[in-house]
Amino acid sequence: MNGQTHRSTAELQALDSAHYLHPFTDHKQLGAKGSRIITRAEGIYLWDSDGNRILDGMAGLWCVNVGYGRKELADAAYAQMQELPYYNSFFQTSHVPAIRLAEMLAEITPPGLEHVFFTGSGSEANDTVVRMVRHFWNCRGKPGKKVIISRENAYHGSTMAGASLGGMKPMHAQGGLPIPDIVHIEQPYWFENGNGLSPREYGVKAAKALEARIDEIGEDRVAAFIAEPIQGAGGVIIPPDSYWPEIKRILDRRDILLIVDEVICGFGRTGHWFGSDLYGITPDLMPMAKGMSSGYLPIGGVMVSGRVVETLSEGGEFFHGYTYSGHPTCCAVAIRNVEILKDEKIVEHVRDVAAPHLARRWAELGDHPLVGEARSKGLLAALELVKDKSTNERFPQLGKTGTLCRDICFDNGVIMRAVRDSMITSPPLVITTDQIDELVDLAWRCLDQTAAALGVRA
Ligand SMILES: *Cc1c(COP(=O)(O)O)cnc(C)c1O
Repeated sequence: MNGQTHRSTAELQALDSAHYLHPFTDHKQLGAKGSRIITRAEGIYLWDSDGNRILDGMAGLWCVNVGYGRKELADAAYAQMQELPYYNSFFQTSHVPAIRLAEMLAEITPPGLEHVFFTGSGSEANDTVVRMVRHFWNCRGKPGKKVIISRENAYHGSTMAGASLGGMKPMHAQGGLPIPDIVHIEQPYWFENGNGLSPREYGVKAAKALEARIDEIGEDRVAAFIAEPIQGAGGVIIPPDSYWPEIKRILDRRDILLIVDEVICGFGRTGHWFGSDLYGITPDLMPMAKGMSSGYLPIGGVMVSGRVVETLSEGGEFFHGYTYSGHPTCCAVAIRNVEILKDEKIVEHVRDVAAPHLARRWAELGDHPLVGEARSKGLLAALELVKDKSTNERFPQLGKTGTLCRDICFDNGVIMRAVRDSMITSPPLVITTDQIDELVDLAWRCLDQTAAALGVRA
């Protein structure tokens, strides 16, 4: 199909290194080692150019919710490309796929969200959010409200605004970020910051950091608070159950918008359609992407509440949009993807079958000598690697053990990602209980090999 499969792995690696500047990659390292070339995929498995089968415990980048090899999605793209491959929705035009997808999204997203602004990615969705929120307060006659409060280690994308909203210090350092009027508070990371408090107590304490920061800045300057329901790239940080209710209490008493970034949690990941449903929260703006098309084509969007839409409508033209906002072919694939999620009851499968099974099996990994905590919610899970299980003391050189374990995982035919010294997984939502057993058994084996490589007795 791509006409390149006759090339050897070594040839492909040499060309890759010579011409392809990869995202989030240390190129010196990559050049020395050579990249792994993925050639095909089916269900939850990938194959590389040497014919190795790999269990994709990350669903690509948290996005291939319905699994690989879905002919329905290819057919949807093919049919739409023949009928109307591209047209825009600027200047009072529209088309059927964007209209139909908007209608479906209004139906499956939480109540109060009836409108969508389409983007090409999660980063663009978050850029849209910054523009929209600030314009909203201008329209309301409160131009002083500009500050957006986010959280440490949040991930909201890699564009200027996305990376600024994100709380990744190494990303900020390389780009002179964040842009003005974006600040960060503590993340609700009990394992790291709990300090002897119960999860319940700590969840309330972490939420109160929002209240303290609002009071410090002044409510008249704060435009919005942005958060992922469960932090993904920050290390699958599952907030204690007391966290979101306390955030809600704090925001209910104040005139501040709530932005819930559903780019990972949306479209079934937590066993609910959206993380907002899981935690009973009502966003004013809800960026989404990834699982929206299961990654088959790039598309994202922002769900916008009635009150924001009304205010923006009073403000005349909002000078914002992307050439590919509501791209017909991407919309056609997203529509088919949502139909698959519905028809095959995949969200229910996560909630009733896959997530409970993963929770049980994942907890067993907590018994491993390297593991300080094993946590999961829906089909998101993490393991905290520690040097000393009795005290949860970390290994020296944070991140080194995680990277070691990640490489061992790859060599054993399973993809898990390392965030600092935690190992995380976010498999395709169609994973079966047998496949979850396979994932957990592989994880245990990789932990053993990591322990052996570190000279720790397992
Ligand atoms: C991946 C991600 C983004 C950015 O999405 P892109 O499509 O990579 O631009 C934003 N927010 C969250 C929570 C994400 O996980």
